[in-house]
Amino acid sequence: MAKVIVVGGGAAGLVAAWRAATLGHRVLLLEANGRLGVKLRISGGGKCNITHDGPPRELLAAFPKDQARFLRPSLHAFDNGAVLDLLRREGVETYARDNGRVFPQDRPGSAGLVVTAFEQLARRAGVELRTGARVSALKGRAPRLEGLLLDQERIHGETFILATGGASYPETGTRGEVLGWLRELGVPVHPWFPALAPIPLSRPRPAWEGVALRGGELRLSAGAGGRRLGAFGGDILFTKSGISGPAVLELSQATERARRGGPAWLTYASVMELPEALDAALQSEQRANPRLLAATWLQRHLPERLVEPLLQEAGLGSALMLKDLPRPGRRTLVGLATALPLGEPQAVPLARGEVAAGGVELTAVDPRTMALRDWENLRVCGELLDIDGPVGGYNLQAAFSTGYAAGTI
Ligand SMILES: Cc1cc2nc3c(=O)[nH]c(=O)nc-3n(C[C@H](O)[C@H](O)[C@H](O)COP(=O)(O)OP(=O)(O)OC[C@H]3O[C@@H](n4cnc5c(N)ncnc54)[C@H](O)[C@@H]3O)c2cc1C
Repeated sequence: MAKVIVVGGGAAGLVAAWRAATLGHRVLLLEANGRLGVKLRISGGGKCNITHDGPPRELLAAFPKDQARFLRPSLHAFDNGAVLDLLRREGVETYARDNGRVFPQDRPGSAGLVVTAFEQLARRAGVELRTGARVSALKGRAPRLEGLLLDQERIHGETFILATGGASYPETGTRGEVLGWLRELGVPVHPWFPALAPIPLSRPRPAWEGVALRGGELRLSAGAGGRRLGAFGGDILFTKSGISGPAVLELSQATERARRGGPAWLTYASVMELPEALDAALQSEQRANPRLLAATWLQRHLPERLVEPLLQEAGLGSALMLKDLPRPGRRTLVGLATALPLGEPQAVPLARGEVAAGGVELTAVDPRTMALRDWENLRVCGELLDIDGPVGGYNLQAAFSTGYAAGTI
């Protein structure tokens, strides 16, 4: 049987190597780190959100359309149920949370148990695992890859599977350099781009670090007319340098694209209260309760820690009573309560994303086998592909499914 070389011992590479070995191939897996699955071990805050619950069509619907079309064959061949069955047979029991995210049963180091399970599977299938092995070059040209360079050593094989991941969290081994090598070999690629990352703000609010805004939506607008470019419902959290949290991660890629095109702004808007209705409510409150402090009223809508600085910035003293609130002040209060301006975003950091957007162009890859179309013996899988799903287990599932397809030789 052919000798298969897999580069990268993360989610996609481990599955690809195991699958190829179970089909009878001699498989060598090369991993740069001293141990396997380093990014997997920190995924889901160390708990590892392995996949998402639901039928394949629902999982696919979470991805952008072109990515969903590409993923369909591999996801059907190795879906979330297949991943969980495999893990269960290795002793990793899992459960789905109400929001559909699937995790191993709560145990210390549960993400590590997922890595151990895949490592055991690969070993038992006969995969030769070499850690501390960073590939430094690809040798050959289309249509055949001849080998790989590992320091001074040249590694030969018949089929090569690249599963070297994205370019975020480079400390986990994913420096993204393989994408540059592929581009030099004529493979169509999209450059790495930040995604699922926190957003720094041009005017950060370190004093608000740890404060959360809940139940609303983060809105992105740009251009002279403040055109709305995107919105995502969910909580946000102030950090030292900007904002993070579910809605922030999901809107980070669009924010960076908008920012690179010109000035952009972020707002956190209430979805429950419309400005006109709240303005009317504030006017009745002024009549019914004239001595109520404007600050007390605003605290019904915003966390306490934000209220005083916001009132000060708006030129409204914290001792101001509703009866003394002028009409422009009333509009300011209603504006803050319904759509809190967060200001301009700064460069979204590629390194801090849960994934990196960009990667090998999907049109250059056969979605059933992950083979590069112009090559006879080169396959790519996992985050190295131009795939970036939302938070929720989708990215690991994409890595498992495309890894399985790549290993099906
Ligand atoms: C903090 C964080 C939390 C996350 N949480 C989740 C989650 O809960 N659920 C989810 O679905 N997704 C999550 N993700 C995303 C998910 O971890 C990735 O999408 C997934 O690991 C990609 O799998 P992969 O096999 O393609 O790449 P990786 O798992 O990154 O594996 C690639 C491997 O290739 C190795 N490598 C790279 N270059 C070379 C080279 N030149 N030579 C040899 N080896 C090399 C790297 O060392 C690495 O081990 C998270 C990501 C981060 C950063």
